[in-house]
Amino acid sequence: MDNVNSKELINWTGFDLLHMHRFLAMFAAHICLNTLFLSIIMSLIILGSVAFDALETPFGKTDKIVGGAASYAALAASYCYDQVKIIGVVGEDFGENNLSKFSKHHIDITGIQIKQGEKSFFWSGKYHNDMNSRDTLITELNVLADFDPIIPPSYQDANYILLGNLSPQVQLKALERLDKRPQLVVLDTMNFWMDIALDDLKNILKQVDVLTINDEEARQLSGQYSLVKAAEVILRLGPSYLIIKKGEHGALLFGENRIFSAPALPLAEVFDPTGAGDTFAGGFIGYLAHVNATDFDSMKAAVIYGSALASFCVEKFGTERLENLTKQEINERIESFSQLTAFTI
Ligand code: AMP
Repeated sequence: MDNVNSKELINWTGFDLLHMHRFLAMFAAHICLNTLFLSIIMSLIILGSVAFDALETPFGKTDKIVGGAASYAALAASYCYDQVKIIGVVGEDFGENNLSKFSKHHIDITGIQIKQGEKSFFWSGKYHNDMNSRDTLITELNVLADFDPIIPPSYQDANYILLGNLSPQVQLKALERLDKRPQLVVLDTMNFWMDIALDDLKNILKQVDVLTINDEEARQLSGQYSLVKAAEVILRLGPSYLIIKKGEHGALLFGENRIFSAPALPLAEVFDPTGAGDTFAGGFIGYLAHVNATDFDSMKAAVIYGSALASFCVEKFGTERLENLTKQEINERIESFSQLTAFTI
C-alpha cells in the first residue's frame, strides 16, 4: 500500500512537475510577449487647435460649434487607428459634453489642458458662393495666446505625430518635448504663419518628414507658380514628402522623385468646407499609423484615405459628419475613389 502510494506520489509529482515546467515556460513566454507587446505599442499624437467655430455658408449659419484643427484631424484619424492622442488647450467654457465627443471615439484627451476661468479659441468664417473662398470674420486667440504644450508621460511612446495648424514655435516646442523623435512627423500649416512667422516655419520644416499645404500656400512658400517647381523648392527646405491640397481638384503627393495625383470625389453638394484640410491630414497619418509604414506607396493609399474622410467632412456643418461614420460608409467611399480613376486602354 505504501509502495503504491509512493509510486502514485512519484507519478503525481512527476506529472505535476511536468505541468509546472510547462506552466512556467508558458508564463515566461507570456511575460516575454507582454514585454514585446508593450515595447511595440505605438501611438499617434495630434497637436492643434481645439476650438469653437461659428460658420456661415450659402446653406446656413451656426452658432458656436466644436471646431479646431486637432478636433477634425483626431476624429478622422480615429477611423483608421485606435491609439490617437490629442495635445491642445481649451477654456473652462468648452465643457465635458464637448470633450466627450473625443472620448466616444476612444481618443486620449489627457494632453488637452483645461484653463479654468479662460475662454477657448474662437474662430468665425463666412464662405462665398463658390465655397472655395472665405472671409475670416473673428479670430479670438484666448487660451491659444500663450499655449505651452505639455506632453503627458503616456504620450512619450508616440511613433507618429501630426503637428496641426498652430504657430510654428508651438509646433517646435511640442516636437522638442518628446523624448524620442517619432518615426514620422507630419506638419500642416497655413498662409497666416508664412506671413507672420516665416523664419520659425522654415526652422521647423528642417525637422519634418511630410508637409501638407494647399496650392496657394505652396506658391507663397516657394515663390513658384508651377506646383512642380514649387515642390522642388519646398522639398529642399527639409521635408522628404510634400502634399499639395487642391480642394475640389484633389491632392498631389511629391517625394522619392515621384509624383502621385489623387482626385477629390465630385460631390453634388458641399455644405461646409471648414476643416477639410485637417480631416485630410488626420486620415492620412491615421492610415500610415495603422499600417505602420512610411514609404511612398503607403503614402499613396494614405492620401486616398485622407481624401475620402475629407469628402465626408464637407457634407455637414463642423465635425458633425465625422462624428458618426460607419466602416461601411468609409469603405464604399474608398471604392468610389478607386472607380473614379480606374480605366483600361
Ligand atoms: P481649415 O478649414 O482646414 O482651414 O480649418 C479650419 C479650422 O482651423 C477651424 O475649425 C478653426 O477653428 C481653425 N483655425 C482657424 N484659424 C486658426 C489659427 N490661426 N490657428 C489654429 N487654428 C485655426
